[in-house]
Amino acid sequence: MPGSQRVVIVGGGFGGLACARALDGADAGVTLLDRHNYHLFTPLLYQVATALLDPSDIAFPLRRAFRKSPNVRFRQATVTGVDLDARTVRTHAGDEIGYDTLVFATGGTNNYFGNEPLAEHSIGMKTLPEAMRLRNHVLSCLEEAEQTRDTDEKQSGARIVLVEGLDRLLGAFHPKLGRYAEETLRRFGIEVRTQALVEKADDASVTLRSGEIIHAKTIVWSAGVRPSDPLNGAPRARSKRLEADEFLRLRGRDDVFVIGDAASVATPRGELPMLSPPAMQEGRYVARAIKTGRSTKPFHYLDKGTMATIGRHAAVADVRGVKLKGSLGWLAWLFVHIYYLIGFRNRVAVLASWGWNYFLRDRPIRLIVRGDPDPLADEIDQG
Ligand SMILES: Cc1cc2nc3c(=O)[nH]c(=O)nc-3n(C[C@H](O)[C@H](O)[C@H](O)COP(=O)(O)OP(=O)(O)OC[C@H]3O[C@@H](n4cnc5c(N)ncnc54)[C@H](O)[C@@H]3O)c2cc1C
Repeated sequence: MPGSQRVVIVGGGFGGLACARALDGADAGVTLLDRHNYHLFTPLLYQVATALLDPSDIAFPLRRAFRKSPNVRFRQATVTGVDLDARTVRTHAGDEIGYDTLVFATGGTNNYFGNEPLAEHSIGMKTLPEAMRLRNHVLSCLEEAEQTRDTDEKQSGARIVLVEGLDRLLGAFHPKLGRYAEETLRRFGIEVRTQALVEKADDASVTLRSGEIIHAKTIVWSAGVRPSDPLNGAPRARSKRLEADEFLRLRGRDDVFVIGDAASVATPRGELPMLSPPAMQEGRYVARAIKTGRSTKPFHYLDKGTMATIGRHAAVADVRGVKLKGSLGWLAWLFVHIYYLIGFRNRVAVLASWGWNYFLRDRPIRLIVRGDPDPLADEIDQG
């Protein structure tokens, strides 16, 4: 591969992809590794789980992203270990790939806060297979309800309970927007429990720390993220994320950068949040450092704002101090998500599904599809 230095990027998510794109055409031979052969646009993952979008609408093939690149190559592989002294990464197949510079961008995974049995009885919301599992499960529950002879069960609609450990929803937003989100959800018929912690779960119920039991056959777990990486023995912050210095290098190493959810980047206001904008800005910053051979200025995160959708005509956004909610917030949310979605085809497909749903109030992808496991695909994707 052309280029005077070998750069290996592990993870083709928001951080790794931004870094690889910024290195496209640079004087470096770049190998991008990911256990999946696609980049996933996580902010719309819940719309796959709720039968509004198709998986291919929010996933972009990584190989296609670099098919014309003179120096960036994609390889599907799960990285199982790194030898920092020998400067090699090891893959699931036992291959060793050498590097001069390593960029680690492996993101995060579900955090059950040490209560692993919860994982067994709940469905996570971090990956495409999890979103597909949730879609299949909910649609199958509806089919079962249609067929049951129990008239109570047949007549009762879905009961949705949102359980939150903090004293309000959307803790990262201004309290006014959190209150708006809670009121809107209640108006939609959703029961909201704040200051409620889940103690345990089984196939038919969730038990809260208060002792209350909520009966449910569908338990969705989206309560926490923890970093996932195979960098054993590397320095870590209290959050367990890999400790980055001010130039985003793994503390104590000049040849390893850590970015995105996997990295703990300290700021005067605490660690940067696990969100896509910091990951993308970090990826571009690291690419600049690689291209110029050094970083002169420490990384600085430019916070352009945060937003969250609640439902039809209801979203909240905090853009540089300007707080939006309701229809205005919702339009801003729609625009930003279409803008950042990768691939023209994906944008058209998502807009078509949104339009269909908006005008016909119909979820277009109501399919229960279970794929047979494939041993080769399972071997590569160990995530
Ligand atoms: C459901 C959901 C909704 C979200 N909504 C928003 C939102 O609205 N706005 C927002 O800003 N953020 C949102 N986030 C957070 C956002 O997705 C993350 O902050 C962002 O993806 C972090 O980027 P990253 O590059 O660090 O990791 P990721 O984007 O997670 O990418 C990590 C990549 O590394 C790969 N990988 C992991 N381990 C290995 C390995 N061992 N070997 C090879 N490859 C590996 C993974 O396959 C993945 O492609 C959401 C997250 C989820 C799960």
